[in-house]
Amino acid sequence: MKILKTLLLICFFTLSFRSDIVLADKENFINNSGMISDLPYGLKFFVDINEEIEISDIAIKFKVLDRSALQYDYFDLDDYENNNRKEYYFKTISPNSYIPPGSLVEYYFEIFHSDNESIKTDPVVSRVLDSRFEWESLKNDNVEVFFHGPVRKRALRILNSAEDLNTRMKDILPSAEFNNIVITMYNNNSEMFDAVVHKSSKQSRELITEGQAFDRENVVLVQGSGRRSVGTATHELTHILVGRASKGSLLGVPLWLNEGLAEYGNLDPGNSYDRFLEWAIDTERIMPFSTLNRFPGEPSLTIVAYGQSKSFVNFIINEFGSDTIQKILDQLSEGKRIEGAFQSVIGFDLKEVENLWREKIGAKQLKESTVEVKPKQGGSVPELKPYSLTPEPKDFSEKQEELEKLEPSEEVIDANNCNSTGGKSIDISFLIVIFLIISKYIFKRFKLI
Ligand SMILES: [Zn+2]
Repeated sequence: MKILKTLLLICFFTLSFRSDIVLADKENFINNSGMISDLPYGLKFFVDINEEIEISDIAIKFKVLDRSALQYDYFDLDDYENNNRKEYYFKTISPNSYIPPGSLVEYYFEIFHSDNESIKTDPVVSRVLDSRFEWESLKNDNVEVFFHGPVRKRALRILNSAEDLNTRMKDILPSAEFNNIVITMYNNNSEMFDAVVHKSSKQSRELITEGQAFDRENVVLVQGSGRRSVGTATHELTHILVGRASKGSLLGVPLWLNEGLAEYGNLDPGNSYDRFLEWAIDTERIMPFSTLNRFPGEPSLTIVAYGQSKSFVNFIINEFGSDTIQKILDQLSEGKRIEGAFQSVIGFDLKEVENLWREKIGAKQLKESTVEVKPKQGGSVPELKPYSLTPEPKDFSEKQEELEKLEPSEEVIDANNCNSTGGKSIDISFLIVIFLIISKYIFKRFKLI
């Protein structure tokens, strides 16, 4: 038995070393190799082989940093029979293969000779940018903003706001290092449309995406011409910090906490959320936080969910200290659930803290059976109807004259598309939609109350 084991071991080592055989002279084997970004559609990998060498296979191995998955595939050599340049195209247009522009990609090739010997090229790390534009960048020690066209000022404003955010969040999320972040800034919605990940065709049709954050890739996409672009950028950057501050949490950060923190970090928040929160208090539409791991799809309730998450996070920081949130995230990272994390950090469970908050804002206390109770649906708020989108979200109360001219409109953030799995999804997005009809109604209603 022992002999058999030894034989198997020898066999194993022989095999594994065999696949690692490296020819002494790499340069003789291939002339060149590399990757060309064709984002947002794909990545093109190529190898220029030496025509005197007979190749049996070429494998491409690559990884988007800092994702854990290594992608691995073989070139289809038949496609390039009479050509020394062999190519492999990796499509990035589906949600599963999506790569945010601005990511770092590490790759290498393994080239097999017909007698089964092989070589591996040295790993290369390269930043993949959106191939449709010529990019420039502005950077400081922590953040790099990529932009194109005559919008340097805008890019600088975003870069500076990132530093302001750093100042604001460093006591709240001290474990999250604020560095190594890339912001890719687009100039309008149509540029942005192809660059973001679309989870459904419905989403593609109906939403304007103002920003998306990718915490593993350390990338934020921002539509830089929006009136609230600084707000969007700082909201999204905070998602990256939350991801870093909660590394290791298996269940992720609850959606309400993630979005509440992102709004805490939002340096240009507007006041729509506050207005909707007041409306929800008055009409008893505040939802229990234990149900807000997913935000409701109905637009008015979505805004309420953001508003109350923001208010609750502010309350926790003000009442229990600026280090409370980090301590809660540490507990989540250690595998605790949110209820247990609240109990051990604050000394009260989530429900008790929520009731303290409800008391403070003048909302009704939670009922005993709240977990089962669904929030009131829209009631008299009209169903969503076809609407048109305008390039810039309008604030609820500011620029009232413009609102009158345009038909009153409101920004609605669709939570189904913003980190809906509660912290562990690949992408965290901040989507702003203009609903022309509904908001006029809600605004009128609000004034009547
Ligand atoms: Zn968000």
